[in-house]
Amino acid sequence: MEVHVELKTASKMFCNCKNDPDEPKPNTNICPTCTAQPGTLPIPNKKAVQWTVKIGKALGCSIRELSKFDRKHYFYPDLPKAYQISQYDEPIAEHGEIVLEFPTEENIREQVKIGITRVHLEEDTAKLTHANDGSTLVDFNRAGTPLVEIVTDPDFMTAIEAKIYCQELRTIMRYLNVSDADMEKGHMRCEANISLQEAGKFEIVDGVVKALGDYKLNNKVELKNLNSFKAVERGIDYEIKRQTEMIEKGESWIQQTRGWNEDKGETVMQRKKENSDDYRYFPEPDIPPFHPVKIAGDISLGELPQAKRKRFHEEYKFSYADAKILSDNKNWANFAEEVISELIEWLDSLPETKNKAENVPQKITRLAGGWITSKLMGILKEKNKDITGISFTAENFAELIALIYTKRVNSTNAGKILLIMAGSDKDKDPTHILEEKGWGQVSDEGKINELVEDAIKSYSKQVEEFQAGKETVLKFLIGMVMKASEGNADPKVVEEILRGKLS
Ligand SMILES: [Zn+2]
Repeated sequence: MEVHVELKTASKMFCNCKNDPDEPKPNTNICPTCTAQPGTLPIPNKKAVQWTVKIGKALGCSIRELSKFDRKHYFYPDLPKAYQISQYDEPIAEHGEIVLEFPTEENIREQVKIGITRVHLEEDTAKLTHANDGSTLVDFNRAGTPLVEIVTDPDFMTAIEAKIYCQELRTIMRYLNVSDADMEKGHMRCEANISLQEAGKFEIVDGVVKALGDYKLNNKVELKNLNSFKAVERGIDYEIKRQTEMIEKGESWIQQTRGWNEDKGETVMQRKKENSDDYRYFPEPDIPPFHPVKIAGDISLGELPQAKRKRFHEEYKFSYADAKILSDNKNWANFAEEVISELIEWLDSLPETKNKAENVPQKITRLAGGWITSKLMGILKEKNKDITGISFTAENFAELIALIYTKRVNSTNAGKILLIMAGSDKDKDPTHILEEKGWGQVSDEGKINELVEDAIKSYSKQVEEFQAGKETVLKFLIGMVMKASEGNADPKVVEEILRGKLS
């Protein structure tokens, strides 16, 4: 996989222009440098170098002591210099690794190690728009945006592995706060290199595929236009199938670039691919070699998504699925953390849980994790809201969880309370809502006893049936007691009392 990530630095890579590739008005953020006027000189963006080091470290790479920029030559209207300032043989970071986990997926390897070959820094090109009359328009707002390219070893065996890798990369970029990594907006662009070989006729040595015996390796096909995670998976799957069929027919193919056509669901030949020699790489004479580590200085990565996922799972006992969902988005992760810390405080203030067994926090944190991912996320999705747009605090959400945990409210009524909290533009206290609506759960055994006695009197026929061995009738009796309590009784307590009286 080759993934390009646009960095969201304030200014462009080699000039002072505002870095805003999404700017809708064409050619607003431009200057003589990023439009390649003769005599202009590039001045590298320090922040972009720092962030590339950061990305390299997050991907487990070693950072080169000395790095340099190189010119990569090709002629195209989106590149007015006729060369791109990139990095060739001395990238800022190299030899990293990222581990993908698939604990719930079937038919794939449980843990996949993906080697990171290199992470280098370059400049983005201008944006071309092909008009209906056959003309082409050039917008230089994007020209010179700092672009990081991340290249992996040939370690992917299936399309889904490639998709999960791209998703993981996006999460890491957002955690590091170096890019919005929005694929639809082109902030992150994924390309796959697919070269199917016959089983048993090759080996992979140090990240390089080598032929065995007199076998001739099949050529590489570069796949572009993968504008969504779904496209990454579908495009690669299609190409694997296409190449398999060609091998089976005894056909071979030339090295080429193909584009994924989402509507047709197929890949289309775009051009015969140049070898790297054709780019005539040579060191950029206007920028001296540099020391990335010195430029980067002290870098703190913070907690990365994989570590957070592991901690959520192990420490808070969130299910693996909940831990993944919550750690994938930093805002949700922060909300979950706040809720947990509030809960621990709240527990201490409740008479029911004060000084109770040590495993109480894990039971309640697991409950909280489930309520955030299953209920709250669903409600906000329906209301088209984001976690940053809610009006209630983590403290009040934690209070709701504590009410459920201490059986002061059953889960149906708790769901209704959450709906009210999420629908209000004020921070609403769940205890107030509960009292106002009279939704408190009746767990007072005396009160439930009375209701059970009434039910036994009113439904003597069903009672006889149950006592004659018809177990299913019990559900009906529980239902009648629940109805009499207006849904507020704890069904477990009702069942217990009923069974006690009827046995
Ligand atoms: Zn500029």
